[in-house]
Amino acid sequence: MSTLLAIENLTVAYGAVEALKNVSLEIQDGDVVAVLGANGAGKTTLLKAISGLVPIKTGSITLKGADLSQYPAFRLAEMGIMHIPEGRRVFATLSVEENLNLGAWSVRGKIAPQELQKNLDWVYQLFPILKDRKKQLAGTLSGGEQQMLAIGRGLVSRPRILLLDEPSLGLAPILVSEIFSVIRKIHAEEGVTILLVEQNARKALGLADYGYILETGRIALHDAAAQLRENEHVKAAYLGGGKLR
Ligand code: ATP
Repeated sequence: MSTLLAIENLTVAYGAVEALKNVSLEIQDGDVVAVLGANGAGKTTLLKAISGLVPIKTGSITLKGADLSQYPAFRLAEMGIMHIPEGRRVFATLSVEENLNLGAWSVRGKIAPQELQKNLDWVYQLFPILKDRKKQLAGTLSGGEQQMLAIGRGLVSRPRILLLDEPSLGLAPILVSEIFSVIRKIHAEEGVTILLVEQNARKALGLADYGYILETGRIALHDAAAQLRENEHVKAAYLGGGKLR
């Protein structure tokens, strides 16, 4: 296994407020890495820094050794860094199919139309409900379906790494399980590398290979997910003190 993404001593600031302080993190090819932390810990800022949406103050982010700081966000997307932001942002007045087609902008013209169709078919196979509703306006989908569409749109370009920001936020428990099982499938069947930001620590650590705990902008702890599940601090602060099911 080799390192896909490496972050070293990353500091990101909003004015005088440092949201990330000397954060270092590594993601191996094909792994699912979870980032856990309370509200305001800096999780979203971390994803935004990787996808070029906020500037880096100090430190570095590299993809297979290539320094990413020189590229704008659209170039990073073309390089295979796909950020699915929090809040299921879909284009409400476009159909499901049109939303998915927009997800292919970063690869259009670079891959054959048949390849693109194959990617779309893969997304429809992962989310059969999207296929059933492909002509329906995205704004009329349920919250869970919109989240599936947001993830599906990110997958159409077959990214090298998927950055998922709180995919389960605000969803009913049954849909949370469904979203996690699809993430598991994306990983298991296609080996897509995933950086998963979640408040649902139990589910995230049940799925991930490795995890980082972010506390007020710093990495407080990192370890194999199986180890974190047994860690007393993690149990007390993030898993409600109970044992993982
Ligand atoms: P949440 O789970 O609530 O989304 P988070 O862990 O994703 O939290 P961030 O959104 O990355 O945390 O925020 C980290 C810190 O940076 C917080 O103190 C937040 O108030 C601050 N912050 C985030 N965005 C901005 C901004 N645009 N301008 C100023 N401060 C910001």
